[in-house]
Amino acid sequence: SGSGTATGTATDTHCPYCALQCGMRLRPGAGAEPAEVLERPDFPVNRGALCGKGRTAAAVLRPGVRLTEPLVREDRGDRDSPLRPASWDEALDRVAAGLTRARRRHGDDAVGVFGGGGLTNEKAYLLGKFARVALRTPHIDYNGRFCMSSAAAAHRRAFGIDRGLPFPLADIAGTDCVILVGANPAETMPPALRYFRELRENGGRLIVVDPRRTRTAEQADLHLQPLPGSDLALALGLLHLLIADGRADKDFIARRTTGFAQARAAAMAHWPQRVERLTGVPMPQLAAAAAMFGEAPRGMVLTARGPEQQSKGTDTVSAWINLCLAAGKAGRPGSGYGCLTGQGNGQGGREHGQKADQLPGYRSITDPAARRHVASVWGVDPGALPGPGRSAYELLDSLGTDGGVRALLLMGSNPAVSAPRAAHVSERLRALDLLAVGDVVLSETARLADVVLPVTQWAEETGTTTNLEGRVILRRKAVDAPPGVRSDLAVLHGLAARLGVPEGFPEDPEEVFEELRRASAGGQADYAGISYGRIRAEDGVFWPCPAPDHPGTPRLFLDRFATPDGRARFAAVTHRPAAEEPDGPDGAYPLYLTTGRVVGQYQSGAQTRRVDELNRSAPGPFVEVHPVLARRLGVADGEPLAVTSRRGRAVAPARVTDTIRPDTVFMPFHWGGDGRANSLTNPALDPVSRMPEFKVCAVRVEPAAGE
Ligand code: SF4
Repeated sequence: SGSGTATGTATDTHCPYCALQCGMRLRPGAGAEPAEVLERPDFPVNRGALCGKGRTAAAVLRPGVRLTEPLVREDRGDRDSPLRPASWDEALDRVAAGLTRARRRHGDDAVGVFGGGGLTNEKAYLLGKFARVALRTPHIDYNGRFCMSSAAAAHRRAFGIDRGLPFPLADIAGTDCVILVGANPAETMPPALRYFRELRENGGRLIVVDPRRTRTAEQADLHLQPLPGSDLALALGLLHLLIADGRADKDFIARRTTGFAQARAAAMAHWPQRVERLTGVPMPQLAAAAAMFGEAPRGMVLTARGPEQQSKGTDTVSAWINLCLAAGKAGRPGSGYGCLTGQGNGQGGREHGQKADQLPGYRSITDPAARRHVASVWGVDPGALPGPGRSAYELLDSLGTDGGVRALLLMGSNPAVSAPRAAHVSERLRALDLLAVGDVVLSETARLADVVLPVTQWAEETGTTTNLEGRVILRRKAVDAPPGVRSDLAVLHGLAARLGVPEGFPEDPEEVFEELRRASAGGQADYAGISYGRIRAEDGVFWPCPAPDHPGTPRLFLDRFATPDGRARFAAVTHRPAAEEPDGPDGAYPLYLTTGRVVGQYQSGAQTRRVDELNRSAPGPFVEVHPVLARRLGVADGEPLAVTSRRGRAVAPARVTDTIRPDTVFMPFHWGGDGRANSLTNPALDPVSRMPEFKVCAVRVEPAAGE
C-alpha cells in the first residue's frame, strides 16, 4: 500500500458506502485532476470487484460537490433566512451557545445528538461520549436504529450477542442451502453475489423470500413471494412443516438450545393452510422450501431489511432463527443465522455507544458494572452518566416540543429523507431552537439547519469501520481534504472545549481508537487486542479480540453460544398483522406499499445523487406496479402516479412490471421532494428494537396526470 497523498501514490482503502466495505485503491489526481479508484484484488471480501457506486466514489470528493466552508443561518431567529458562509469559530460558537441556552432554559434533557451508521468507529464512540460527558444528555441515537436494530435484538435474544454475520461471508459459498429473507444483494451489494453464485456452482440451493421478484430472486432455485409483513407467519409455517416432516434435529436441540417446547407449540398452531392464507405463498412452495432446507446437511438463513423493518421485526427475525436452530443449522461450520447489515459501518456503528440504550463494547447502559467500567475509562463518576434516552424516531418526534429536545447536533444522517413519516420529521427539525448538522454535502436535512459544519469524508481521513462480518478494517487517508473542512473528531473537540470540557476529546483517530479499545475491553464487542498496526498487517481483524496475541474470531458459537448457559434460546413467537393493513378493495387504502433500494443509489442519496454516472443509471424515484393494477388504474409505464398513505403523498412515474405482486406497490427511498417514499411510511415501532415499520403500510394509488 502507498502512503503519499501529494505524490500520486495509490493507497489501500475502502469504499465509503455499504456494509461490505469493499477494498479499493485510491490514487489522487495530479493538480486539479480527480482522484481515481483502482481495484484491490487482494482484499478478501470483494476480491477486486466493485459496484458502480464504489467505482465512482471519487466523484464525491470533488470541491464542487461537497461543502468546503461552514454555513450559518443569516438571521438567527428566522429559519427561512438564507444560509451564509461563516468562519469555523463563528459556526462552533453558535452551536455551543445554542446547546448551552437550551440546557440552561430546559435542562440537560433538552439537548440531543443524532448519529449515523456510516460514521467510523472512532466517530461513533466519541459522539456517544460527547453526548453523555460533554452534554450530559441521555438523548443520543442514530439512523442505525432504522437499519438492523431488529436483527440485533433477535440476535441477542437467541445467541446472547449480536454480530451481523457470525461467520465470514465466504462461508456462504460452502454451505448447502441458503434462505435469503427480504434481502436483495444484487442491488444493494453486488460483489457479494459471487458467494451465492459459487454456492450454486457447488451444488447448493438458494431460496429467496421477497414480495418482489428481484434480480436476486431471479437467481434462486425457489422464490417465495409473500405478502409484505407476513414473513413471521412464513417462518412459523416452515418450522411447522420441518417438525411435522420429522426433520428437526433432536440431538442438536437437546444439546445446544433451550426453549424448544414453547417455540414448537407456537409453530404447530400455524397450520400450513393458515400460513398459506396469511402469506399468499402456495402450499406446494411452502413444502418445497421446508424440504429443501430441512434436507440440506448444512444451511444458513440470512435476513435483511425486509423482515427487520417491521413493527414485529424482532419477533420475525426470532422466527427465522428458530427455524435455523430447529434444523440444527447454527453454531457449526457452514451453518448459521446472519443479518446482511446495510450501512457502511452498520456493525461498528452500533457497538461503541451512539445507541440510546448502550455504552461502548455493546454494554447495556443500565448495567451498573458496565457503567462503572466506562465511567472509569472516561474519568467521570458513574452516577454522572445519564441513563437510556429516546430511540431514533421517538427522539425525532420529540424535537421542538415541551419536554422534548430543543437543540440537536446531527452528524452523518439525513432523516428529512430517510426517517419514516418524513414530512412530519422535517417539521419537527424545523421546530428546533437549534439544529446543527455535520455533513459532507448540503443534504435535505442540512438545508434545514441553523449551522452546517463541513466535515471530512472517507478517503480524506483515517478511521476504522467494522463490516457486516464483524471484520474491523482501516479506511486509510488517501487524499488531502480541501481547505475549510474539518474532521468530525475536530468538531467534537472544538465543541467540547467550548462547553467547558477541554480534555478527553482527541482529534487524532488513532488516539480515539486506543481509548475505544480500553472502553470495549471485557465487553461483547471486545476490541482490546486490535490496533491500527494489526489491521494493516492482517487486512482486518474479527472481534471479539480480547488481547494483542488473540487471533480474532471469524466464526462465533462453534463451541458455545454467548448466553450464560452457552445454549441458544428459542423464542416462542406468534404471527400478528402489520400495524397497518390495506382496508379492502373498496377501502381508502387498498394496497400494500413496500420500499427498498436500487443499485445506482445509496440510502438517502445524499452522496450518490451527486454523481452523474449514477444519476444516469438511477435518475429518480418510481412506483412499481403490476400490469393488472396498471390496467385497472388506466396508467401506462412512465406516467405519473400519486401514492397516498395516512401520513402523506408522493408522486413518481409508474414502472409497470410483473415482478411485483398485484396487491403491492414498491418505491425506492433514495430521493426527497415529491417522490419521497418516506412521506408515506409508517413510524409504528417494534416494541423491542424500536424499529419503525418501513417495509409495510397501506396506500392508495391514482394517476397523477398533469402534476
Ligand atoms: Fe461500495 Fe458496497 Fe458497492 Fe462494495 S458493494 S463497492 S462497499 S457500495
